[in-house]
Amino acid sequence: MAEPLIVIGNGMAAAKFAEELAARALGRYAVAVVGEEPHLAYNRVLLSSVLAKESSLDAIALKSAAWWRDRGVTLRYGCAAQSVDLDARTVSLGDGKVLSFSKLVFATGSLPIRLSVPGADLPGVVTFRDISDVSTMNAFAQLGSRIAVVGGGLLGLEAAYGLSKSGAKVTLVHLMDRLMERQLDPCAATLLKRAVESLGIEVLTSVETDRVEGQNRAEALVLKDGRRLAADAVVFAVGVAPNVALARQCGLRTARGILVDDGLACSALGIFAIGECVEHRGRCYGLVEPAYEQARVLARCLTGEGGSYEGSVLATNLKVSGVNVFSAGDFLGGAETENIVFSDPGFGTYKKLVLRDGRLVGTVLYGDTTDGLWYLDLIRSGALVEPMRGDLIFGRAFLGREAA
Ligand SMILES: Cc1cc2nc3c(=O)[nH]c(=O)nc-3n(C[C@H](O)[C@H](O)[C@H](O)COP(=O)(O)OP(=O)(O)OC[C@H]3O[C@@H](n4cnc5c(N)ncnc54)[C@H](O)[C@@H]3O)c2cc1C
Repeated sequence: MAEPLIVIGNGMAAAKFAEELAARALGRYAVAVVGEEPHLAYNRVLLSSVLAKESSLDAIALKSAAWWRDRGVTLRYGCAAQSVDLDARTVSLGDGKVLSFSKLVFATGSLPIRLSVPGADLPGVVTFRDISDVSTMNAFAQLGSRIAVVGGGLLGLEAAYGLSKSGAKVTLVHLMDRLMERQLDPCAATLLKRAVESLGIEVLTSVETDRVEGQNRAEALVLKDGRRLAADAVVFAVGVAPNVALARQCGLRTARGILVDDGLACSALGIFAIGECVEHRGRCYGLVEPAYEQARVLARCLTGEGGSYEGSVLATNLKVSGVNVFSAGDFLGGAETENIVFSDPGFGTYKKLVLRDGRLVGTVLYGDTTDGLWYLDLIRSGALVEPMRGDLIFGRAFLGREAA
């Protein structure tokens, strides 16, 4: 008989896990996926493209309803899991139903952070995490409306770009002295700022938010230096926190995220966690690739193939049309690393490779990002690149020509 397995969360990690499990052992588990959002699992990464009207909601579904049906997965979306009883091995849902499980997987993702400043809960203050946030932002993004986006990371930049494409006058405010400081070095960040400004987006760096002002709704964002930016809406894109409430409530061990071992197992037998809700070896990831790697490893573990998750090398791509940015690994480097740099600011190209002991450990690419995934493979494999270091910066195609 199929063993009942419940996945809580119907996001990207859950969809990948269902796919990997079905590919390995269709029918071994009776899988039920419980999702709070009233949608089939969708590609959250592409919400930025939906906001920028470069993609539609229909186009971002990860799997069709038929795909789930054909694999025998019971989908319960638009319904939150409200509590888990680890002793009784049951999950209680918002609609009053109680489901039994033998194995349980948490895939509850993250929650967007709202700055705790006065006015943060006024109508017109939004975050950027799901389809309903995109609908809210679209309602504000009218021609000539003024929108302040707080946060100059990947999400803030993509929000600013999408809103400005709809005709809104956007000001992006960032606490740090450069944009995307977690992915870019100062040179690449300077080029990025210039490119974003050329799209008509005002960028203010090294500024701190003091409060949101407004009578019954957001009317202005006030900065700590006293400046007051008139705003019909304020978007907080200041990061995410792993969604651990349910796991904590049922007694699982949590820190920042739900604590898991290399087999993605939590602190109670038969309970697992994957994706952004997870903390593994002290790290929480906010990107999709680690979630997919964890989903793959867990599917292998639960089908007897065995596997171990060792952590992920992070890589980021900015989805702002015409602005190509790629960053991976240790892109800043340190005392024991060497940098190979190619820079042509006039042409809008910047490439930096960080090497340690003859191996590539990080990269930042601005402008021409064609070789990003190739560099990422080299970083992940830990291959010796010393023999080709003279040509490495010119990319794979150049090396191929040289060899021919
Ligand atoms: C606009 C945007 C752009 C992004 N761009 C990139 C990018 O370029 N590259 C990249 O790598 N990553 C990007 N990300 C991050 C990426 O989307 C996440 O890493 C990925 O979605 C994580 O998958 P997950 O399944 O862990 O979480 P999620 O996809 O967030 O799924 C979690 C799901 O669980 C549900 N849930 C939570 N609690 C419950 C409950 N109690 N009961 C039922 N359901 C529950 C939530 O509603 C949610 O649907 C982006 C994210 C956003 C918002």
